[in-house]
Amino acid sequence: MILVLLALTLLEGRFPARRDPGQRLLNLGIMIARMIPAVLLAPLVSAGVVEAARRAGLPAVTSAAWPPAAATVAYILAIDFGECMFHRTQHAVPFLWRMHSLHHSDPCMNATTAERHWWGDSVIKALTIWPAAAILFRPSAATLTIYALLSFYHYFSHANLRVSFGRLSWLLNSPAYHRIHHSSDPAHHGANFAGLFPIFDVILGSYRPGAMFPPTGLDRRPETLIHALVWPMTDEPGAPSEPEARPA
Ligand SMILES: [Zn+2]
Ligand SMILES: [Zn+2]
Repeated sequence: MILVLLALTLLEGRFPARRDPGQRLLNLGIMIARMIPAVLLAPLVSAGVVEAARRAGLPAVTSAAWPPAAATVAYILAIDFGECMFHRTQHAVPFLWRMHSLHHSDPCMNATTAERHWWGDSVIKALTIWPAAAILFRPSAATLTIYALLSFYHYFSHANLRVSFGRLSWLLNSPAYHRIHHSSDPAHHGANFAGLFPIFDVILGSYRPGAMFPPTGLDRRPETLIHALVWPMTDEPGAPSEPEARPA
């Protein structure tokens, strides 16, 4: 993880998409602070819920008869769809936006911004979409490991690099694609919610490809780790950008 961040940070220093000052140190502080809910709580809660579902005899979408590769692909598509829907909800529901706006408040999106999430976001996910996906798909340890490795891709999609996939933008998230989601220009709001696979934006009508590399950030941002940790309880962090508010 640290090596991936270091390599991307070196590349960002050499080939930056924009030269706006980011908040890398603060992002790393937030990363450490949210490790307990994100890294410890989520697997424990998911494991407990899955065990309870197993004992209760709840049916699963996948079964032991599925080839491991098919079960892994099904789980990854399902959890990425769940993340995309949760993300859309974060923009549409004011109290969730108060939490998620911390992620959007980085004045220059970069690889470390991928770790800039309010710690409570991880708690909510650990109690909702993560155990829900685990109950429905009963992922194996190997599948969870593959998904965890794929999650490093979020560092790349947040990187301050001029990388666009052009006509193939619907296939996989990229720094250009995700930067539009973080854009401070209201004309870009309500677009590109996908985590890994923008096909979900295509299906949901929020797909906006392009290689414009706009500035990012909100009017307000935390300057200290303490401020970031209590971010949703502070002043109104900015207007939400509802999916419905996207330009035609
Ligand atoms: Zn967002
Ligand atoms: Zn982001």
